[in-house]
Amino acid sequence: MDAEIIAVGSELLLGQINNTNGRFLSQQFAQMGINVFYHTVVGDNDRRLQQAIEIAESRANLIVFTGGLGPTKDDLTKETIARHIGKKLVFNDEALQSIEAYFQKRDRAMTENNKKQALVLEGSEVLANDHGMAPGMVLSKSGITYMLLPGPPSEMEPMFISYGYESIMNKLDKHERIESKVLRFFGIGEAELETVIDDLLVNQTNPTIAPLAAEGEVTLRITAKDSSKQKCEELILTAEKEIMDRVGKFYYGNDNTSLIKELVKELTVRKLSIAVAESLTGGMFQEQLTTIPGAGKVFKGGIVSYTNDAKSNVLGVSGGIISEHGVVSGECAKEMASNVRGMHDADVGISFTGVAGPDEQEDKPVGTIFIGISYRDGNTHFKELNLSGSREQNRIRSVKYGCHYLLN
Ligand code: ATP
Ligand code: MG
Repeated sequence: MDAEIIAVGSELLLGQINNTNGRFLSQQFAQMGINVFYHTVVGDNDRRLQQAIEIAESRANLIVFTGGLGPTKDDLTKETIARHIGKKLVFNDEALQSIEAYFQKRDRAMTENNKKQALVLEGSEVLANDHGMAPGMVLSKSGITYMLLPGPPSEMEPMFISYGYESIMNKLDKHERIESKVLRFFGIGEAELETVIDDLLVNQTNPTIAPLAAEGEVTLRITAKDSSKQKCEELILTAEKEIMDRVGKFYYGNDNTSLIKELVKELTVRKLSIAVAESLTGGMFQEQLTTIPGAGKVFKGGIVSYTNDAKSNVLGVSGGIISEHGVVSGECAKEMASNVRGMHDADVGISFTGVAGPDEQEDKPVGTIFIGISYRDGNTHFKELNLSGSREQNRIRSVKYGCHYLLN
């Protein structure tokens, strides 16, 4: 199956919004192992949309449209497609009911043009819209599958995940069952990881192994194709074992996890509490911890001690340490971690101090960062980082390294 994505909307052509729908769908199709060879953006214009459809039909057998399913005059996607492929638009009872319910719930009168949103291509599979009114639809004709999705990402994305994905999977050739798994790594650069597994990347055709680097992390997506799900899983497992043999020590989780989620999970399982002292990260570590449901079971509290005064007066770092080693030092990081741990009576204390940039501090170059870690049994140590990113990157990576050190 080769796909083309057609984003309909004049505001896209005017540069008023980004085509994030195209990006989202491409990512989804990559995961499904479906090739996307073209993206088209076309305005709310019947004639030009018609032309775009004709071109897409000549080079794709899955055409996915987003936008133009709404109630207003400029919303013409389904009308144009209906005429083009010779299908009628008919009212869909369920969609009509859900639109009526939508208005009732908001205590607003439903106008006639809103009913238009319940019109669907005759014979199509209707995709419910759980976050808005216009339903999506999928229809195959003459070997081509047309999928129509609403424009607002808040409606389109959940619709695709909940209904669209499955609908396309069912249309795939049975010999093309696709399974994939994402392995997540931290602490190893993309180039280094690729070098270590280069032969696998080059030689593998089934499963394929695709690396992706983002925000200091590297992920590998292993995708297997076979008619049987079990065979797909075996293929994935074999590749996974080979990869883990080589870079397993940098691995931290699968699929949709994150370092901070893994950390909360680990602390919860081990029944450990944590307290945090932050300087350059300004509370980012604590903010991220608290986004994870269940963080309350492990996170006791913390302190943002940004100035030298705050480090000594609030956190109790001794003046001697500051004058002798400076605040950008492993000694200071150790004291921050052990003091904040003691103040909160926590099992683990972690601290962040360093030079985020853009200017150097205490004659130490930008990116010099110390992370202190202190355990209840008295074991207190620090790690030094020498990062080379922007101020923001250095702060984000410090937080990730903090998780990484606690997890290892
Ligand atoms: P509505 O019922 O809201 O009118 P619709 O299906 O008719 O939805 P459009 O009218 O084309 O969709 O677009 C509605 C809004 O959705 C746009 O104003 C824009 O905010 C967002 N949107 C549309 N297309 C895209 C796209 N390709 N990428 C990101 N956002 C988009
Ligand atoms: Mg619209």
